[in-house]
Amino acid sequence: MRLHDSIESVTRLSFEQKQALKKLSLFTVGDLLRYYPVRYGDISKAVEINSVEKGIDVTVFGRIQNLTTSKGFKTKIAMAKATLVDETGTLGLVWFNQPYIAKLIHDNSLVRVEGKLSIGKSGRYFSNPKIEEIDKIPEIKGISLFAETQGDNASNHDAPLYPVYPETKNITSNWIFHTLQRVFKSDIFEYITDPIPESILKKYSLPTLKTALLWVHSPHKIEDYEIARKRLAFEEVFFIQLQKQIERKEILKLPSIQLKDAEEFALEFINKLPFKLTTAQKTVIDTITNEMKQGTPMSRLLEGDVGSGKTAVAGATAYAVVKSHPNGKDFGNYQIAYMAPTEILATQQFESFIEFFKHLPIEMALVIGATCKKFPSKVNPTGSTSVSKPQMLKWIEEGKISLVIGTHALIQKKVKFKNLAYVIIDEQHRFGVNQRQKLARKDKVIPHLLSMTATPIPRTLALTIYGDLDLSILDQMPAGRKQIITEIITPEKRNTVYEKIREELNNGRQAYIICPRIDAPDPDQEKSLQLRSVKEEAERLKKEVFREFKIDILHSKMTPIEKDKIMGEFYKGTIDILVSTSVVEVGVNVPNATVIVIEGAERFGLSQLHQLRGRVLRGNHQPYCFVFADSKNDKSIERLRAFKNAKNGFELAELDLKQRGSGGLAGGKQWGITDIAMEALRNLKMVEAARTEAKLIAETDLTLSKYPALKAVLESKKEIHFE
Ligand code: ADP
Ligand code: MG
Repeated sequence: MRLHDSIESVTRLSFEQKQALKKLSLFTVGDLLRYYPVRYGDISKAVEINSVEKGIDVTVFGRIQNLTTSKGFKTKIAMAKATLVDETGTLGLVWFNQPYIAKLIHDNSLVRVEGKLSIGKSGRYFSNPKIEEIDKIPEIKGISLFAETQGDNASNHDAPLYPVYPETKNITSNWIFHTLQRVFKSDIFEYITDPIPESILKKYSLPTLKTALLWVHSPHKIEDYEIARKRLAFEEVFFIQLQKQIERKEILKLPSIQLKDAEEFALEFINKLPFKLTTAQKTVIDTITNEMKQGTPMSRLLEGDVGSGKTAVAGATAYAVVKSHPNGKDFGNYQIAYMAPTEILATQQFESFIEFFKHLPIEMALVIGATCKKFPSKVNPTGSTSVSKPQMLKWIEEGKISLVIGTHALIQKKVKFKNLAYVIIDEQHRFGVNQRQKLARKDKVIPHLLSMTATPIPRTLALTIYGDLDLSILDQMPAGRKQIITEIITPEKRNTVYEKIREELNNGRQAYIICPRIDAPDPDQEKSLQLRSVKEEAERLKKEVFREFKIDILHSKMTPIEKDKIMGEFYKGTIDILVSTSVVEVGVNVPNATVIVIEGAERFGLSQLHQLRGRVLRGNHQPYCFVFADSKNDKSIERLRAFKNAKNGFELAELDLKQRGSGGLAGGKQWGITDIAMEALRNLKMVEAARTEAKLIAETDLTLSKYPALKAVLESKKEIHFE
């Protein structure tokens, strides 16, 4: 059996199973081997039904009887019920809103159940327990069972630890376990080569790939899976690092644009600003202009909390570019591409840059969707004019437009530049080498790159996913900023908060109210999903609470024109209260807004909450953030407390990372990082070790000629992840 063999060659699959495997992106034996358990259970901790005690998490084994499903009469909540039986007694099982449960098990199934005992009117029961169908019930009477498993079947079936895999309809954890056991019994191991050089494994005492795969799926003891996961995590972080180090080297080989007077021009810009830069802003601008003077391609990530003034850094360095002329001549112009994460933000930055550059003889453009605007305008001396898109793209290609502001999508795909010298990316998490090379000129001259982010990223994550970039940090806030007051609000204090908001509004300030959903919830949904929605909440506030104020809404399903209009009105102050989803999260700047209310706060990640809070950190008035939580769950309250007390976004990012799984920005998916690698990112030493080794290889063997297995892995990953 080979890694690329289909799963169907291991075991027969029904149509439904094939569909389910596709959903899990599992196609080959290799995919299955890389589908790791989410956790491990321990059979030796199982108890008999009659000795289950109230309130403690336990595992029990038994047979299912009287399985029924129904819908709550009033609540309309789908409910499944069953009785669990073993030799010592019976126990009720009940599931709310998990209609698929009834499909996973059947009457008379043997099952393993994990849950917590409650005692109700109708007796003893588990509410929403985890359940899995099994083939046989292990003897529970103590350890002896496991001492006997040395014989011919010493293998994995009888080990006390069992892996639990993420399931989907038609593919159970148990199915994955058994299919893998078959794979392990084949000759698969003869065809697995370890891409990690042996010397590295030795140096860090890591097991080989074969051992790691066996132990991660079939551990005999806890240490087995711990060391296996460590190896698999190291591997993934190492691959990413190596990829990034190679990209970095490749970019550095290319010529870039040399801007001899970058420093002087930046200074000219700084001197015109109505405020004094922070030391951190100055340092970063110095670093960037120095690199521009060198002419080697700059690749830099600028991290700074919301409101730390990244736009001024972008402005000063962009100024240095638009003031310079190509090829040492005193005419002609370079071009800049500025990519914003949303159309709202692109529009806002277009306004900022018009302010910055309006005295210069250059042309600037805004390109969002089908809308294109140009400044200066012949018809409108103080503002911008709309231009047709083909016309605009032509001007950009001819090099007429010096600064093009747009969203990522557009600039990456359709726009061709003549003389692109500088790419500024506001809040995008990744911008691959390929994308950057596409923006390069025909003569391979590559633009300088500044990627800015207010998304606080834990250090280990930054080292990994941004391994190809140099890092600058704005760790100071502009002077005169007030500390934001954050309060966690319990339901009975809601009206007090509304009074406080009224006071602010009466003083001429504005407020954001953030809701987790756009529309009214589907009445069939579970109660806990009945989160406040933008539309309903806005109506309620208009009718019941803030009758005297102008309230409007903003969300992602509105058209760009509608969004623009609303943001414009909020900016001007004609709207007092903006009820919105988290679309306002990134970078929107309305200094007069001093209050932000976050409804259903437990639905947001810590870093995301921090971003939202940043919306009212813009002016010189005292800002407030009121956090409403629906949940009384200790863990979510604790998280919100951490949010209240955190000094900066980085602190919260580290916390998000620790509490992975509870959602939030540190969730690996958006970075293209698997859960197992996220585990590694909690370990700075491991990440640094992976980085050291990756650097060493990239320095000594850029084409990986001595590491064919490694090369093969990176190439296969490139196909999938990097375009
Ligand atoms: P972010 O880093 O979140 O992008 P911005 O660049 O939008 O922050 O800056 C936030 C606000 O602070 C803007 O109104 C900007 O003009 C102002 N600002 C930036 N730097 C300074 C400074 N050094 N002193 C005072 N105000 C500043
Ligand atoms: Mg910004």
